[in-house]
Amino acid sequence: MERFYKMVEASNKRFPNGVEPFQMATRLLEECGEVAAEINHWQGSGLKRQKRGEPSKEALANELRQSIVELFKIAVYYSVEKELEDSINQSIQRSKDEGLID
Ligand SMILES: [Mg+2]
Repeated sequence: MERFYKMVEASNKRFPNGVEPFQMATRLLEECGEVAAEINHWQGSGLKRQKRGEPSKEALANELRQSIVELFKIAVYYSVEKELEDSINQSIQRSKDEGLID
């Protein structure tokens, strides 16, 4: 989690004019669209593979990271870091209680 917050801090310093909610929401959707494009490439549908060759794990991971950072930017903007951590902990505990994970 901390590394994602560091990436948010760096990004907000690098691009200080893009931190309004609608800009963050737009970038999140843009990055999710790029994840979808990578999935399309991996699944070999459309012309992606003909145009771009074999899919790359690094390219998919890069788009996933960019999407996650955009989500974390929203968490930072609304100061819900603690609530996000609590939500994750509750979800993990619920899954443990249900015997789904150790
Ligand atoms: Mg991207």
